[in-house]
Amino acid sequence: MKPNSLVAAALAAALPSLAFAADPAAPLAPMYTDGAALTRDCDAALATVRKTVEAMASKTGGEGIFAEWNRMFVQVEDGSNAASLYATVHPAKDVRSAGEACEENFKKLNTEVNQNEAIFARVKAAKPASPKEAKLQRDLLRDFEDSGVALPADKRAKAKELFEKIESHRQAFERNVREDTTKVTFTPGELEGVPEPFLRTKKRDDAGNYVFGLDQPTYSAVMSNAKSEATRERYYRARFRQGGERNLEELYQVFLLRQQLAALYGMPSYADYRLRSRMAGKTQTVNRFLADVKAAVTPVERQEMQVLREEKARELGKPVADTKLSWWDLSYYSERVRRARYDVDQEKLREYFPADKSVDFVFLVVERLYGIRFRPADAPVWHPDVRYFEMVDGKTGAYMGSAYLDLFPREGKRQGAFAAPLTTASRLVNRKPSGALVANLDRRGFNQRELEVLLHEFGHLLNLLLSNVDYGPQAFTTVKWDFVEAPSQMFEEWARRPQTLGLFKEVCSSCPQLSVDQIKRIDDARKFGMATGYARQQLLAAFDMELAQNPRAPLEVWKSLESATPLGYVEGTMFPTAFQHIVNEYGAGYYGYMWSRVIARDLLSQFGDNLLDPKVGARYREAILGAGNEAEETDMVRKFLGREPSSDAFFAEITGRS
Ligand SMILES: [Zn+2]
Repeated sequence: MKPNSLVAAALAAALPSLAFAADPAAPLAPMYTDGAALTRDCDAALATVRKTVEAMASKTGGEGIFAEWNRMFVQVEDGSNAASLYATVHPAKDVRSAGEACEENFKKLNTEVNQNEAIFARVKAAKPASPKEAKLQRDLLRDFEDSGVALPADKRAKAKELFEKIESHRQAFERNVREDTTKVTFTPGELEGVPEPFLRTKKRDDAGNYVFGLDQPTYSAVMSNAKSEATRERYYRARFRQGGERNLEELYQVFLLRQQLAALYGMPSYADYRLRSRMAGKTQTVNRFLADVKAAVTPVERQEMQVLREEKARELGKPVADTKLSWWDLSYYSERVRRARYDVDQEKLREYFPADKSVDFVFLVVERLYGIRFRPADAPVWHPDVRYFEMVDGKTGAYMGSAYLDLFPREGKRQGAFAAPLTTASRLVNRKPSGALVANLDRRGFNQRELEVLLHEFGHLLNLLLSNVDYGPQAFTTVKWDFVEAPSQMFEEWARRPQTLGLFKEVCSSCPQLSVDQIKRIDDARKFGMATGYARQQLLAAFDMELAQNPRAPLEVWKSLESATPLGYVEGTMFPTAFQHIVNEYGAGYYGYMWSRVIARDLLSQFGDNLLDPKVGARYREAILGAGNEAEETDMVRKFLGREPSSDAFFAEITGRS
């Protein structure tokens, strides 16, 4: 270490709040105060990309096409990524709208590129110089083929027509859900048990009653806490008609048209068409996986249901034999059992996990595991809540990438949590990665579930920031749908073990510390109801696969599947009318949530009892996080494991054997 950097390090240690100036190499996000400015930048970027596309199409032969594609990819990212992020998080409504419009325009341009015959011919003619380039070529050709460009002219026109029809039914389905204004009115008495602080945030009508929509936070608060079964049943019945009967037809049309699309490609079903570009690969593989999950969880699910039924009988003072458990009882009695059996009150955990200290905790974990550090730096942000950090090499301090953390809720911000890429790494053009972690966590401090959410999304962010690839299109954003959740699902475990949670005392000496016993009870509480949760996931995935293999009237398919579950089908409900996943990218892909978890548990097994082992961390960083999409996911996993992948750890977990 040179004397200068010693002084700098000493200064930084003495003045920890002193933020560094942003690194000159950092790709900072553009800032907007009005939508017009964003639109101007977006239009200029679209024009730039169009020029690049024309230049690419005017040449012949494969020479140089991968580097040209990479340049175009960078231009697309620079023109659209910040706009897409701002569409979901920007405090100014007109910037959000302009961001949405920009995203739409870039989507259209993307379709145009994938239907460009001249560029398709060039990619096809290219001679890859390495296995990575061969993989890039395969992936690009698959996207071209999926867009119909390789089909004969008549089929191509038909494919285009089908894509457009599917898109319009998809939009109608989503609109019907979004614009469903169903309100359910409850008197204060009917909401006994629902936490006061939650109710205080809710509006009341002139008669003093609460008028609720069907949004998830409100629905969960009521279903987990309302003592009155009639209240829960009424809300459940309203919720499971969201989108309305017309959505059954929209959904049916989407799957019928998808079936026709698959036929154009000579595939027997949409499932076959879709799965050929997923990690699972084949329809039979997914069907077998789902059957295995069902067989494994069913006995445990029945035991869990019995515990809930006993709890309900106890609360109502009735014999168990006369007590019927219903779907609308699940959350409520699960919460009661968790509180009674494990004495866990998630609300009380907030003082253990202050927001800032939780972020420091995650930074310390990744420092130990991967030898990288995060430090705050000065950069413009889109809202005062947002914090900017730079990722630097733990030894040399060299700048590696940038992260924006936007953790707290506010008006107009999208619900849920996600990681959004701004720039992805490309060694070819010395491009550094940057991205945003967006969440809606509680600023008073996190409960343990929220700490898991933070780690989960940080898992995605690390995948982006540590992608160490030549070509941008081979970084984390393009890994397969049934793999992409694995690194983030795995990272949740770091919020569950005494070893890792013990690091909290290093980042916050004044915070109360959880005891080993408390941590165990929190984790046991989490595991209670897990089989029931997986049984539900299995049901949804099986429904999706049914429609994707043999499209029929969705409600009939749903009724037959749900009737076979322990709680049965509730006459009058229509779950499929709001199942938005499967009209979107998760069509023939809902199984992916569980598939990723199989991989996540398998990857985790390599860490054994030491989740802070830097040797395993280094191997994991190289084989998985750094590799992006440069190799087949199965090969990456095999390389890290040093053996064939196995689903044992997953099945042990979902059946409570671990
Ligand atoms: Zn995720």
